[in-house]
Amino acid sequence: MYPGDVIIPQSEIARVVPEIADDIAADYGAYLPLFVGVMDGALCFLADLVRAFPVGVDVATTRVSSYDGSESGEAVIEWLPPSELLKGRDVLLVDDILDTGKTVSLLAPRLMELGAESVGICALLDKPARRVYSVEANYAGFDVPDIFVVGYGLDYNGAYRNLPDVRELATQI
Ligand code: 5GP
Ligand code: MG
Repeated sequence: MYPGDVIIPQSEIARVVPEIADDIAADYGAYLPLFVGVMDGALCFLADLVRAFPVGVDVATTRVSSYDGSESGEAVIEWLPPSELLKGRDVLLVDDILDTGKTVSLLAPRLMELGAESVGICALLDKPARRVYSVEANYAGFDVPDIFVVGYGLDYNGAYRNLPDVRELATQI
């Protein structure tokens, strides 16, 4: 397994992330959302998105593990933002990719239970062909086909998160 063809080049990501930030800013207005990045995949996207945001915002993280390499396995919440931070806030979940929708379907009700006023979903990538849970992104950067991608935060067994482009994970050279 190795990083193959570039699916989304760094330059396209750099062009689109500030557009997403502007869309979010326009929609939320004065009621600034609490950005909650889904670790570890959202690392790069979260960092770029909040830095592209026109005004100061609050940022927190949550972590969900699926333990199965490139397969979407059992999802377990490892941590959540503290409820003091969530109370009354419009939360925007920031994730690398919306795939089956399991991760955000697991997180959204827990965040509401902990006091969030609303939970929106912002994903850099959307893989609609794989959706199992009834959930859509409020903000999405790029649709991708049903392939496994790495780079810009997305990993394969912990590797390749640091690649600047999003690439297809290839099986042979
Ligand atoms: P879900 O199926 O819950 O929507 O997505 C679960 C998680 O699986 C995503 O947050 C992401 O971390 C991971 N995932 C889904 N599709 C891909 C992919 O193509 N590449 C990588 N590296 N991770 C993916
Ligand atoms: Mg993820």
